[in-house]
Amino acid sequence: MGVVVVTGVPGVGKSTVMGAAEEYGYKIVNFGTTMFEEAQNEGVSDRDDMRKLAVEDQQRLQKQAGEKISQMGNVVVDTHASILTPSGYMPGLPEWTVRALNPDIIVLVEATPEEIEGRRNKDATRVRDKDDIGLHQSVNREYAATAAVITGSTVAIVENHDNQVDVAVEQFRKILGK
Ligand code: AMP
Ligand code: MG
Repeated sequence: MGVVVVTGVPGVGKSTVMGAAEEYGYKIVNFGTTMFEEAQNEGVSDRDDMRKLAVEDQQRLQKQAGEKISQMGNVVVDTHASILTPSGYMPGLPEWTVRALNPDIIVLVEATPEEIEGRRNKDATRVRDKDDIGLHQSVNREYAATAAVITGSTVAIVENHDNQVDVAVEQFRKILGK
């Protein structure tokens, strides 16, 4: 039981799918929450404002969060393969972060852009960007592959389609070897 990193575009439902891992004794850590704890000390008041910070500030917070999480032992990490910033797609697992986390598996949770758009529209608690969801998912595959090559992690894709979360959880369970 090592570290498992779970990624997916905002609104794909990754937190829902990975919640199932708790039943198998994994502790779940949210990378964004860990980063936000650091960011709040610096006056950031909304987690959805972090991706608008200067990239160097995001990278500093990212580094702090990655180091904290790397000391937590065997966990499932809820995070992103890429973050859409005003200056482009920032890797969520740059070399220094993926080396610190050293995951066994990098999971990509995916759905169709239409399904994701529909889910985002239903969630009023978050500030979502108007973006090209299909493009973001293809960038995520490329960034996940690059991170995997650095550490030798496997990459697994879980499809989380509408009204089939049980199917997605089952795929995730198999990937965890449970
Ligand atoms: P989430 O709740 O998963 O959407 O994460 C909230 C925010 O945390 C994201 O919009 C990013 O600003 C930040 N975040 C999460 N994971 C990472 C990461 N691996 N690298 C950089 N920023 C991240
Ligand atoms: Mg989430």
